[in-house]
Amino acid sequence: MKKIPLFLQIIIGMVLGIIWGLIAVQFNLEKLTSDWIKPWGTIFLNLLKLIAVPLIFVSLVKGISGLSNISKLSSMGLKTLSLYIVSTLFAITIGLLLVNTIEPGNTFPDEKKIEYQTKFGATVQDKQDAAEEIKDQSPLFFIVDMVPDNIFKSLSDNSKMLQIILFAILFAVAMMLLPKDRVKPVKKFINSLNDIILKLIDIIMSAAPFGVFALLAALIVDFSGDSELFTALGLYFLTVVLGLLIMVTIFYPIFLKFFFRKVKYFKYFRAIIPAQMVAFSTSSSAATLPVTMKQVTNEIGVSKGVANFVLPVGVTINMDGTSCYQAIAAVFIAQVFGIDLSFGQQLTIVLTALFASIGSPGVPGGSIVMLIIVLTSVGIPVEGLALILGIDRPLDMLRTVVNITGDSTVSTIVARTEGEFENIKIL
Ligand code: ASP
Repeated sequence: MKKIPLFLQIIIGMVLGIIWGLIAVQFNLEKLTSDWIKPWGTIFLNLLKLIAVPLIFVSLVKGISGLSNISKLSSMGLKTLSLYIVSTLFAITIGLLLVNTIEPGNTFPDEKKIEYQTKFGATVQDKQDAAEEIKDQSPLFFIVDMVPDNIFKSLSDNSKMLQIILFAILFAVAMMLLPKDRVKPVKKFINSLNDIILKLIDIIMSAAPFGVFALLAALIVDFSGDSELFTALGLYFLTVVLGLLIMVTIFYPIFLKFFFRKVKYFKYFRAIIPAQMVAFSTSSSAATLPVTMKQVTNEIGVSKGVANFVLPVGVTINMDGTSCYQAIAAVFIAQVFGIDLSFGQQLTIVLTALFASIGSPGVPGGSIVMLIIVLTSVGIPVEGLALILGIDRPLDMLRTVVNITGDSTVSTIVARTEGEFENIKIL
């Protein structure tokens, strides 16, 4: 096993997991799979999540406090945010173009509409309650919500990553503003903590092939009962998949080419495949962060300084796959309900999907509550969510792959423009 590269080991784990899942469904081994295999997947997922919060904090503090001055921070910050926004806007536009051309909602059978609304009505109500709470707040709610009143509360909630990011940035800026000798002990401590966390990631990742095996086997078993959903929602599913594929195979390569004229795509994708596979198996960009970080620095050569800043911020702020999906889902539901969206309304979708993807936490299904806000911004009935919830999990897996590919691509571009490569390995 030692000699097979990690990315191959993970792919083998995934394929075997899928095969096992299919066998289990065929031969009634579902209970055995849920009782004895699924828990290992959960353990692997928990280990990744466990490391995500300390990693975000430590890597951001290390990354920012290691910068030479505040103006370097603002130049890198500005670049990162602009690239994130550009890629997200592209993703939404691609989504809108596809859904308006393919029109998957116009062929959706009426009886299924009623059936799904009954089946998923309760889940929609839950999500709607959560969205109501957000909508009742002032328009500045998003900013207020970024500022924690108790950092320990944020540290104990994986969906509050933006609060941790803000605290880490403030903490690191304060460190930069103080004389070097006053912050030396903390710097040393953070550096060594960072080394320990990186080692921990290595240890956890050695279990990745088994982890993804267990996660995928369990997912197939859990999902087998709902396979008929694919027939009714096939065209919608394919539209989202096509959008995500365009992002990965056309948009990011062009985006990279813009900054690296001689980029070797094969090397680039080979470098990030382990992260993509973990994203696919876990549906969580936050849980995937340790792997993304490791691949981008070790296999692409992005400096730790850039990766430590760009990637943790990207985990919550940059979600290209999610925003592409939100645009498609919103218009799909409008089409099913026979609502014609004007150009202005589609533009509103672009803007709300942009903010919704920034506000969505990098956890499984993290964007559903935010999708409600996109729907209500243009008057699409929220009940329509029931139509798409049944097949959301596989789409969540795929959009998470795109989310982390976007983060990796932007970190590579920022490293290029800042001259921050330890040895470019993709040329
Ligand atoms: N699961 C996605 C992520 O972690 C978020 C979402 O689209 O629901 O990136």
